[in-house]
Amino acid sequence: MTAPARNGNGYRPAEGPASQQGMRRANLALVLGAVARLGATSRAQLAEATGLTRAAAGSLVSELIDAGLVQEHGVTLEGRVGRPSTVVSLNNRGPAGLGLEIGVEHLGACVIDLSAEVRTRIRVPAANRERDPRAVIEQLARVANSALAQAHELGLDPVGAVVAVPGLVGAASDTVLHAPNLGWHDVDLTGQLSSLLPGLPVEVENEANLGALAELRRGEVGRDFVHVSAEAGIGAALVVDGLLLRGRRGFAGELGHMPVYPDGLPCPCGSHGCLEQYAGEEAVLRNCGFQDAAGDRVAVLVDQAHAAHPAVRRALEQAGRALGIALAGVVNLVDPETVVLGGAYADLAGWLTPGMQTELGARVRIRPWEPAGLVVSGLRREGPVIGAATSVVQRVITDPAYLQERRERREQRV
Ligand SMILES: [Zn+2]
Repeated sequence: MTAPARNGNGYRPAEGPASQQGMRRANLALVLGAVARLGATSRAQLAEATGLTRAAAGSLVSELIDAGLVQEHGVTLEGRVGRPSTVVSLNNRGPAGLGLEIGVEHLGACVIDLSAEVRTRIRVPAANRERDPRAVIEQLARVANSALAQAHELGLDPVGAVVAVPGLVGAASDTVLHAPNLGWHDVDLTGQLSSLLPGLPVEVENEANLGALAELRRGEVGRDFVHVSAEAGIGAALVVDGLLLRGRRGFAGELGHMPVYPDGLPCPCGSHGCLEQYAGEEAVLRNCGFQDAAGDRVAVLVDQAHAAHPAVRRALEQAGRALGIALAGVVNLVDPETVVLGGAYADLAGWLTPGMQTELGARVRIRPWEPAGLVVSGLRREGPVIGAATSVVQRVITDPAYLQERRERREQRV
């Protein structure tokens, strides 16, 4: 598929000269956005919320109903004369988003509806480290097909898929350029996966960015935050005024290689004392002697930390301090509202945060560090896959006409 125009935070309609069609497209998005924001609402309320005339709002709502994006239900009495009016809301049996995830030790999928409700989720263990990308992608397609079948049974129609990967992604959202923990270089993920999931547009995105976007949509951590997460590596994403900061080449957020102890341990990246050598999952497991643990290694750490295993507690304390040092630099640099701990860090937060708070308190100098600024993601390890599905749905909400164009193109091909 062609890469859509991106604004660092999802998608936006193609820009062009003002035209009647462009105006209609923008107004469809305006009305659908209002339905998403307001929940069940009448046409009159939508007219008021959008500044459109009642006739215009009514006609746009009809289009959105025909497109399956909005459903009509119930009757409300409105106005002094008690004129009956039907209420509309987002269609929870219509278009949906498929989120997919390639982890080092698992594959995942979830489907969310237009209201951002998770309707189905799948997570299967899979030893993906150094595994042939083709085999990983074939298994992911099977997981995707199971999720699609479950979605169809619920009356949902996933209109696109986004794959979360622990690595750097090319600007066209199709290639995994470098995923060191998988051992992948220049893998055409969307090309290979699309051939196994015909008719479904597929894109790929860095998992840390998707975890941050999922948090942004939930709206509980503000619009200026640093989201830091770990699975095999450490991923960070910066959200500034509600927009994801991608950097010139899209590689922003490589917090794992920020030096925290410049004369410290050598890192495979060629530097010394990188954060990942102290707070990465591998490093924590190595530091407490659990490097050979199999299966869900984060769960092993959580169990042992609960059991007060001294080496595990010590390794997590050291990881927390290293995270605090690195994040103090980020906080001083960008002055976020919150620092969000996601992914495996959310599961381990109870043992990481004391050391983090100590270092943040000692090193944040732009203003007194407020401990409440460190928050734990409620999405935990599901953040990336939910963020992936959310970005599909968000695209539909911000540009409903895109869906119609896609349908027309598909019909032309048939
Ligand atoms: Zn490094």
